[in-house]
Order: sequence, then C-alpha cells, then structure tokens
Amino acid sequence: MTKKLAILGSTGSIGVQALEAAELNGIKITALAAGRNIKILEEQARRYKPETAAVFDEAAAKDLAVRLADTGIKVLSGEEGVCEAARSSCDTVLNAIVGIAGLVPTLAAIDAGKTVALANKETLVAGGEIVNRRIIEKGVRLLPVDSEHSAIFQSLQGVTEGSLKKILLTASGGPFYGKTKKELENVTVEQALKHPNWSMGAKITIDSATLMNKGLEVIEAVRLFGVSADDIEVLVHRQSIVHSGIELSDGAVIAQLGTPDMRLPIQYALTYPKRADNAFERLSLTDIGTLTFERPDTETFRCLPLCIKAVKQGGLAPAIVNGAGEEAVGLFLAGKIKFLQIPEIAEKALSAVYNKKDITLDDVLWADSEARRVARESIK
Ligand code: NDP
Repeated sequence: MTKKLAILGSTGSIGVQALEAAELNGIKITALAAGRNIKILEEQARRYKPETAAVFDEAAAKDLAVRLADTGIKVLSGEEGVCEAARSSCDTVLNAIVGIAGLVPTLAAIDAGKTVALANKETLVAGGEIVNRRIIEKGVRLLPVDSEHSAIFQSLQGVTEGSLKKILLTASGGPFYGKTKKELENVTVEQALKHPNWSMGAKITIDSATLMNKGLEVIEAVRLFGVSADDIEVLVHRQSIVHSGIELSDGAVIAQLGTPDMRLPIQYALTYPKRADNAFERLSLTDIGTLTFERPDTETFRCLPLCIKAVKQGGLAPAIVNGAGEEAVGLFLAGKIKFLQIPEIAEKALSAVYNKKDITLDDVLWADSEARRVARESIK
C-alpha cells in the first residue's frame, strides 16, 4: 500500500480526487505538479505541505516560488521540474497529467523505481511499447486508475494466467449517444462538454463525446493486459455501473460494478492490494433496476475504429492518432473546427505521417509533433 505519494496533475479533476483519497487513507504527499494553475497549486501546497511543487509553465513557477517563499517548499519548473517531482521521496507517483505531456514524467517515475498509478492514458497510447519495456527493465509496478482498466484489473485478481479469453470494455456512449452524423454537424462545445454520467476535465469529456476516449482505452487495455484489440469487446452501457469486465476460458464473466465515482479506482490504486473503508456512495442495484448493453455505432463515431486500426498497425500509429486527436480537441474547444472534423483530422494524420516499427521515445515525440502539424495545417 502507498505510504508516500507524488501527484502529477494535482490541480485537475483526477488530481483533486486523488488528494482527497490520499488524505482519507493517511497517505503523505511528497510532491505536487501542475501545468500553470498556481492558484489551486498554492492552496494544495499549503494544505498538504509537500517537499516539492512543480509547475510546467516557467513564468507561473516563478510566481509560485514567490507565493510559497514562507513555506520552505521547493518550487521547480518546466518538464524537468515535473520529472523531479516524480523522483521525490515517494513510493508511488500518481500521474493525472492530461495528454502526451504525461509521457516523459511517467518514464522518470519508472526510472526512479516508483510504483506508477496511471490515469494519464495518453502515456500508454502513444508510448506504450517504450513504457512496457522500461517497466520490465526496472521491475516496477504500474497500476491503472482509469475506471474501466481498474475494473478489468480488479476482475483479474485471482485469475490464473492463461485463462483470460476476452475483455469487456464498457462505454457510456457520451452526450451524443444515438445521434446521426447529420445531427452532429453543428453541435456546440457546450453540448459536447455535457457528459451524462461523469464530471471530468475538458479533453477527456470531448474524447468521450467522439468515442475517441473509448478508442484510446482499447489501446490502453492492449498495453496493460497484453491482449490483442480483437480480444476486446466494446459495449455501450448507458448507466456507467458495470465499469468493465472479463470473460474467462470456461465462459465465466467477472465484472466490477459501482457508482460512477473516480475516487474508488483512485483509492484502489493507492491501497492495492488492500481494500480500504470509505464513505463513498454505495451502489443500490434495486435503485438502478435495469442495466443495458449495446454495440457501439462505429459508422457515426469513427474515432473508435480508427484507434483499433492504429493499434493493429502498431509502431507510431497510436501516437499519431493520439497527437492529432489532442490537437483537434484543442481546435474544437477554441471554436476553430466543427465536431465532425475531429475524426477527419485524426484519420488524415494517420495516413499522412510516416510510421515505423522498433520505436524510441524520440520517434514517439516526433510522431506526436508531426501529427499536430498535420492537424493544424488541415484547417488552413
Ligand atoms: P484535467 O484537465 O482536469 O487536469 C489535467 C491536469 O494536468 C491539471 O492538473 C493540469 O494542470 C495538468 N497539466 C497539464 N499539462 C501539464 C504539464 N505539461 N505538466 C504538468 N501538469 C500538467 O484532466 P483530468 O483530470 O480529467 O484527466 C487527467 C488524465 O486522467 C487524462 O489523461 C484523462 O484521460 C485521465 N482520466 C480522467 C478521468 C476523469 O474522470 N477526469 C477518468 C479516467 C482517466 P493545470 O491545472 O495547471 O492546467
């Protein structure tokens, strides 16, 4: 079980909930890191008294250093500062940074021999092969925080090696479930940001609306559980109660159920292998009454099959789709493209950017920036 924790991305949706789970379980915070939101970071630093507070944005870091001058907390800046936070005197690093920015800090945590509790799925999507190699070399443990992957991980406890047949990956369907392409033509940012069941950061909420999030999660599951994309069945489950499950060789199906509350998978990653008490809302199946499951509409929501195609191609393909997708979401949030251009841009980048096998970290970072360039140029 985690005793000392560094949280990267502590000011975001997962980061704030991770701090709550850590406090509930008496876990000491050794480091906090964020992008640029020093108002929240200062409050967190004063409350949790870490050794280190890191800010990616250099100017914001200078400002934070002035604000925290009376505390003795070391303030660091830039990507190296965030990596240094991962190397603080913790046993576990919870990475809740959004996007590809989480990749290098994840590798820093692994290299420092820390257990990694990973919410930052883009790390595994873009750099999964590199991360998996590094985990084996360093002999560290990676624990999933994403609710679906935590559910799969929980379902796998006690399952003997070789008996996993299939993964059942559930999806809420997002705010545009059941809509036709025509109906999606003019949807607004505000509509796309209204997730029916989960309250999350902006990027993952838009990814949920396009089903890019489910596509990224298919890739994440391939990396985490060593299965092929063909062994993963995506099921639209509107109630978000069955968080995902597994089918075993004898046909038995095991799943994890619960209310849609990220604090549970976060807490499980922090207390693993133990289960800790909490006062989170309990699931009442009689109140829920009905659980439904359907096949996803992959004609309308093309990001899901695109991610499956990318992971099957391998090499840099997942990093290309991830990078173009991340850039496209930024453009959509800034009002520069329409909702349906997100899959178009990701598809375009996948066919335009050079792919190769046997990839290095530099290759992944190159593919990410190339994919973003294609995305930006596609709207000129
Ligand atoms: P948010 O946008 O709410 O938070 C993102 C965090 O990352 C913020 O703390 C932000 O800092 C920080 N950040 C951004 N860029 C950098 C950087 N370069 N260096 C250091 N920190 C940085 O995102 P979420 O919490 O929603 O999601 C975080 C990750 O968890 C994503 O990968 C997402 O897919 C995954 N996830 C999220 C779930 C959820 O319920 N929210 C569920 C499952 C997975 P700042 O505030 O200063 O900008």
